[in-house]
Amino acid sequence: MLEEQPTPLDQIGRRLFPEQPEQAVAGVTALVDLAAQARPAEDDQPLLPARYHFFVRAIEGAYVCLCSPPRLLLERRERFEVDGSEYPVFELAVCRQCGAAYLVGERTETQDGKDILTQPGPRSFEHPSGLEFFLLPDERNGEVPDDEDELVSYGPVSGTTAEQRLRLCVRCGAIDRADAIFSPCDCTPPQSVRVIGAKTRDGNVHVCRACGSRSTGSVVFRFLTGNDAAASVLATALYQEIPPREIGDEVQPQEQQRGIDEWSSTAGASASGGARAPQVGGGRQLLIFSDSRQDAAFFAPYLNRTYSPTPAHPEDA
Ligand SMILES: [Zn+2]
Ligand SMILES: [Zn+2]
Repeated sequence: MLEEQPTPLDQIGRRLFPEQPEQAVAGVTALVDLAAQARPAEDDQPLLPARYHFFVRAIEGAYVCLCSPPRLLLERRERFEVDGSEYPVFELAVCRQCGAAYLVGERTETQDGKDILTQPGPRSFEHPSGLEFFLLPDERNGEVPDDEDELVSYGPVSGTTAEQRLRLCVRCGAIDRADAIFSPCDCTPPQSVRVIGAKTRDGNVHVCRACGSRSTGSVVFRFLTGNDAAASVLATALYQEIPPREIGDEVQPQEQQRGIDEWSSTAGASASGGARAPQVGGGRQLLIFSDSRQDAAFFAPYLNRTYSPTPAHPEDA
């Protein structure tokens, strides 16, 4: 089946075990494990030299479509279709202290003079000063009062001005003061949400509008993980799943020459030879590749730092 073309596991399962669809995937996995251990003779390759590969990547931001109910997206896209209608997609940011959700983006003026909120452009990485942050009020940080007298009492941060109380059209991204008499766009039916503009300096929010937390850096962050953090979480989880080599086994020369495939799914069970106790990490081995020499150089110390419970140098903490 697989010689014809690559096939998803569940499809193989349905064909091999049509009578037990709910156990089909587990059945295929067991079959692969079995075939990886089965050798016609000691010196032969296993029936199925299986390896598992993961294709992963770091997230490049979290996104939201403010349709009803809102949809969270972990992949950058400009627009999202719901029930035949297209909605713009906004990028999300979050307060590190209270978890309040913000929209982050750039305000651009259209030819007919309205302001549109768009996702941060590629320029924003080098020149973040054009970025703006808008708090999405939720039930925890209270309803945005309609009465202007109540403005100052909104949330823990006092002094929300009328200019900061905005309404955002979720159909076209038009953004305008909440107290404006006319709608900022012609979208029908009008569908907008209230947002609170946060003060920024050089693209940083120093005071969270929801909880009042302050920082000389930024309290509100975009969901940009960077490759190192994602690879480190995966490497840690995989490393801990590798079975340790049995302590006390002596190296058998012929075992070495036979070239046991240490990357096969059953390497831990079949290839316990080759260890001299005691070994670092129980003799576990993990090889990590990178397509960038610089990434490889920086990742090794990074993983060491994140894996070790106490940092080697306190200043690294
Ligand atoms: Zn609109
Ligand atoms: Zn906060």
